[in-house]
Amino acid sequence: MDGQSTVLEQFNLLKKSGALDDLSFLRRENRELDRLITDASVLMSLTSVDEMLEFVLSRLLDHFIPQFLAFMIHPPRGERLQQYCYRNLKLSDEEIPTRYYSLLKKRFDEHPYAISFGELECTLPSDTFGADFREFLPELLYPMRGIGGLYGIVVLGSKILGDSYTELERVYLDRMTRFLAIGIQNGLHHESSITDPKTGLFNHDYFARRLEDELARISRHGGKAGVLMLDVDHFKRFNDTHGHLAGDEALSSLASMLKHVTRSEDTVSRFGGEEFCVLVMECDERLLMEIAERIRRGAEAMTVSWPGESLTLTISIGARSIQAGDHANVKSVLEEVDRALYASKATGRNRSTLFRPGLLWRASTLRSPVNS
Ligand code: GH3
Ligand code: MG
Ligand code: MG
Repeated sequence: MDGQSTVLEQFNLLKKSGALDDLSFLRRENRELDRLITDASVLMSLTSVDEMLEFVLSRLLDHFIPQFLAFMIHPPRGERLQQYCYRNLKLSDEEIPTRYYSLLKKRFDEHPYAISFGELECTLPSDTFGADFREFLPELLYPMRGIGGLYGIVVLGSKILGDSYTELERVYLDRMTRFLAIGIQNGLHHESSITDPKTGLFNHDYFARRLEDELARISRHGGKAGVLMLDVDHFKRFNDTHGHLAGDEALSSLASMLKHVTRSEDTVSRFGGEEFCVLVMECDERLLMEIAERIRRGAEAMTVSWPGESLTLTISIGARSIQAGDHANVKSVLEEVDRALYASKATGRNRSTLFRPGLLWRASTLRSPVNS
C-alpha cells in the first residue's frame, strides 16, 4: 500500500513538473524525424523536379492541406523564374508576381532562415505586399539554398481548415524544404551537365554516352537504330548577313523543330556550333532516311522570326544505320555519319545521304511514295 502511494506520488510529481508532456513531445518528434529520414532518402533518389515536388506534396498530405503552396525556383542557368503553384495541393496555373521573388530573395540573402509572413511584414514598410500577394494567404516562407546561394523560395498559405501550423509541423516543413533544396539542386546540376544551354538539347558527351549504350544493347540483344548528323548550310553567310543573334535564334528554332519531329525516345543533341546529332531508335535504313528527309524539309519550311524579317535556311544531313553484327563503335559511327554529311555538302547541300560501306546512298534513291 505504501509502495503504491509512493509510485502514485512520484507519477503526480512527474506530471506536475511537465516531464511526461516533454516525453510525449520527444516521442512524437522522434517519430517525425524517423519519417523525415525515410522521406529524405526517397527524395534524394528522384531525378526530376516534377517528381520531387509530387513526392513532397504526397508527404504533406499526411500532415495537412495548405490552401496555397508555391515553389518559386530560379535555376542557376535559367533566365526565367519557374513557378509551381498548388491550390489545395492540386496543380494550379496561378503565379505570384515575380517582383516578390526579388523582394523575398533580398531578405533571405541577408537572413537565410524560414520566417512567418506576419513576422516579415513587421520588418518592412506596410505597403510592401499588395493584394496580389496577400490573396495567396501566405503564412510561412522558406528559402531554398544551394551551393551558389539562394535559388528558390517556398510560399506556404494557411491551412485549409484555418488552424495555424504547430511547432512540429513548422519544424518538419523547415527540414523537408532543406532536403528538397538539395534534391532539386542535384537534379538541376545533373540536367545542366547533360544539356546545351543555348538550345536546351542534350550535349555532345551525353549523346556519345547514349550512342555507346545503344551500340552495346544492339550488339547483345539485336535490333536496329540510326544516327543522323545535321549541319546548317552556309551558316557563316547567315551570320554575316543577319548578325550573330539572328544566328542564335535560328539555332533555337532548329532545336525546337528537331524536338517536334522526333519521338521522345530519340536523343536529339547539339553536337557543337551549328551541328546537331539525332540517335533514332528502332529504325531500319528506310525509316531513318524518311526521318532525315522529314527533318530536312522541316528546316527548309521553317521561318526564323526576327524583327522585320522572316529568315530561312537549309541543312545537310548524313545518316548511318546501326544493326547487330556491324562491329561499330562510337568513333567509327561518328566518322562514317560525318562522311555521309560531307557527301551531302559536296553534292549541293540541302540533302540527306546514307552511309554504306564503300557507297553513299542519296535519300532520293530510297524515297518512299510518301516522300516523292
Ligand atoms: P557549310 O554549308 O559548308 O556548313 O558552311 P558554313 O558556313 O555553315 O560552315 P562553317 O563551318 O564555315 O561555318 C560555321 C559557322 O557557324 C561559323 C560560326 O560562326 C557559326 N556558329 C557556330 N556556332 C554558333 C552559334 O552558337 N551561334 C551563331 N550565331 N553562329 C554559330
Ligand atoms: Mg559545321
Ligand atoms: Mg554549316
